[in-house]
Amino acid sequence: MAKFLFVTDLDNTLVGDDQALVELNDRLHQHRQQYGTKIVYATGRSPILYQQLQAEKNLLEPDALILAVGTEIYINGNDSFDPTWAEKLSEGWDRNLVLSITDKFPQLQLQPNSEQRPFKVSFFLTQEAAVFVLPLLKSELLQSGLNIKLIYSSGIDLDIVPDRSDKGQAVQFLRQKWQFVAQKTVVCGDSGNDIALFATGSNEQRGIIVGNARPELLEWHARHPADHRYLAKNFYAGGILEGLQYFGLIE
Ligand SMILES: [Mg+2]
Repeated sequence: MAKFLFVTDLDNTLVGDDQALVELNDRLHQHRQQYGTKIVYATGRSPILYQQLQAEKNLLEPDALILAVGTEIYINGNDSFDPTWAEKLSEGWDRNLVLSITDKFPQLQLQPNSEQRPFKVSFFLTQEAAVFVLPLLKSELLQSGLNIKLIYSSGIDLDIVPDRSDKGQAVQFLRQKWQFVAQKTVVCGDSGNDIALFATGSNEQRGIIVGNARPELLEWHARHPADHRYLAKNFYAGGILEGLQYFGLIE
């Protein structure tokens, strides 16, 4: 056994089955103690919503946190986000300009204040409206010279973030910082905003899709099958455990 970089989404990936979570936590905690494995959570949650879940589910203290869909990275329990990463995101990003454009779309309903972040503007958008709103909105934002992208997830959440920002690129930033090879890096997810986790980086990087994954991720996986990505039969933390064993990262 050797250390590896473990990266997981939280909602409906790590969290969802309390009993399986306790077992996985045990294994990961031991592995970290014994080999120096690094544990990273990559979530769309803001700091406030992360802390709620952390307390509620008694999550292991991570070595790094990728929050707000990859726009903020917190290393070793630091209270403020990593400035090097923030610097990378600031080019071509203008929050007020984004808001002046989104204002023109009444179908976009602003999410609560806690979800509005320095490098993320978030809305609720119904699936029916998304079909025609997303292409129009995207073209207006790009025409104004913004370097942004839209991430639509779970049939309701729309995040507008800097183009360089997503969970996948944030993982590459940490992988390089901590010098893990792709074969010793594993990412886990369940939904559309995890596609970046699986799609970014060398094609040797391991991926685990939990058995309860949402249709948008399963469809993507079916279109881009790969030996280094494993679709688990088990759900939530049980699927992660299954995948880690499949790749020989744990016993
Ligand atoms: Mg999720």
